[in-house]
Amino acid sequence: MTIEDFAKKINWLGHDGFRIDTEKTIYFDPFKIEGGPKADLIFITHDHFDHCSPEDVEKIQDSQTVIVTEKASAKKLSGDVRVLQPGESLSVDDIKIQAVHSYNTDKDFHPKSNNWLGFIVEIEGITAYHAGDTDFIPEMKDLEVDIAFLPVSGTYVMTAEQAVQAALAINPKLAIPMHYGAIVGDEQDAITFKRALEGKVEVLVLKKQ
Ligand SMILES: [Zn+2]
Repeated sequence: MTIEDFAKKINWLGHDGFRIDTEKTIYFDPFKIEGGPKADLIFITHDHFDHCSPEDVEKIQDSQTVIVTEKASAKKLSGDVRVLQPGESLSVDDIKIQAVHSYNTDKDFHPKSNNWLGFIVEIEGITAYHAGDTDFIPEMKDLEVDIAFLPVSGTYVMTAEQAVQAALAINPKLAIPMHYGAIVGDEQDAITFKRALEGKVEVLVLKKQ
């Protein structure tokens, strides 16, 4: 599948929430969602309320749903919940999942020692990286991914300017800004991110679904 075709399957649900409609229905950090197609897989990066929301998970979870998350979030959720630490990987059917570090470097909201997560998910030959709530961390330089979902709001995560540096280090085929328009940050952060990367990294600013 081309990146372009894959990108058409990505729906931004606001904040860090996404639904990817491939053969499998995949969600990341569903928060304040209306509902939607039942999830085959739900990824939850950490247990802050705007990422691990049991009431939102309930709207899309059924008996077949697999949730992949870290241990603090797992305590708040039920069903088929798989716990990963950074560096660990897992396959669910034909989807390859790698858990990676996600943490702050100059603030204390997301300590590295919590082992909260970003995810690299390989779906239908495309690797998509959801960074979680993170700053620009050294581990990003070693990532090889096609699509990168990166936070841009500042305050709890990296700013748009820092996210530009992260995108340049990761050098994905496509970067998608997130973590704005809900708790902190607004579309201007996404636009700042896109403009600064013009001619360097392709950026797609999604409309909230
Ligand atoms: Zn957080």
